[in-house]
Amino acid sequence: MKHIIFDWSGTVVDDLPPVIEATNAVLQYAGRPAMDRETFRRRFKLPYTQFYAEESPHVPLAELEIEFRRAFAASQEPVTILNASLAFLEQAQKDSRRMFVLSSAPAQAVVAQAHTLGIHHFFEAFHAGIVDKKAYIPQLLAEHSLDPAELIYIGDMVHDIETARHANIFSVAVLTGYDYPEVLQNARPDLLLPDLEHLGRWLSDR
Ligand SMILES: [Mg+2]
Repeated sequence: MKHIIFDWSGTVVDDLPPVIEATNAVLQYAGRPAMDRETFRRRFKLPYTQFYAEESPHVPLAELEIEFRRAFAASQEPVTILNASLAFLEQAQKDSRRMFVLSSAPAQAVVAQAHTLGIHHFFEAFHAGIVDKKAYIPQLLAEHSLDPAELIYIGDMVHDIETARHANIFSVAVLTGYDYPEVLQNARPDLLLPDLEHLGRWLSDR
């Protein structure tokens, strides 16, 4: 397991504050009540099309996406790098690992965050704005000639684990993001760890 596919939100960065704010703007647009952090983490799921189909089935998705991007771009809430990310990325680079991002967050936002946080150069490619990662991942593997047996996929949500399993990639769930531990556990990742620091140690012990 040499190379790494990272989910972005909740795995490399903490973007929950602006995501919750933007989601609440969408819910308000749809005439639905706002969610607090706990409710959002319990209800939100990927693909987000499923989440909005449940929460606001009467509003066309295209409208909701426009509203989300507008509210996300306007949010003053910060996106921060998770504590262990930088050290993990530096070590992975030293170990000559190829690194990729696969994210459902808007592509422009993800790339801009990577630049702002000074970590853009670690990644060979960004595949962001991907609604259904499971449907998309074969394309990512083909484009970069990646062998699933040489990969690790790290994510913080059930959809990440399902995506990895679908592509026969070793799945690592981290607890720094959106889904709660018991929810991730139920999805049976190959490895469940508190954060990237623990994964770094696990990799160096191998
Ligand atoms: Mg995530």
